[in-house]
Amino acid sequence: MSVSTLCEICESRTAEYSCSHCGQLVCERHFDTDSGYCVDCQSRFGGGDQPEQGEQMPDGVDTYEL
Ligand SMILES: [Zn+2]
Ligand SMILES: [Zn+2]
Repeated sequence: MSVSTLCEICESRTAEYSCSHCGQLVCERHFDTDSGYCVDCQSRFGGGDQPEQGEQMPDGVDTYEL
């Protein structure tokens, strides 16, 4: 018997995080670990000084560091 909770956004992946703002349970794809917000809140409040520019991450220095 599975007790895993599904992401409230896509309802197809297991929810592993909860938004620190709205408390919504979301999967890793719909959660921003930097802000602690789900993508709903992230799009609503934005990243402050991070304009949306596609895939570019000018400040992601340590992103691919191994
Ligand atoms: Zn999801
Ligand atoms: Zn949220």
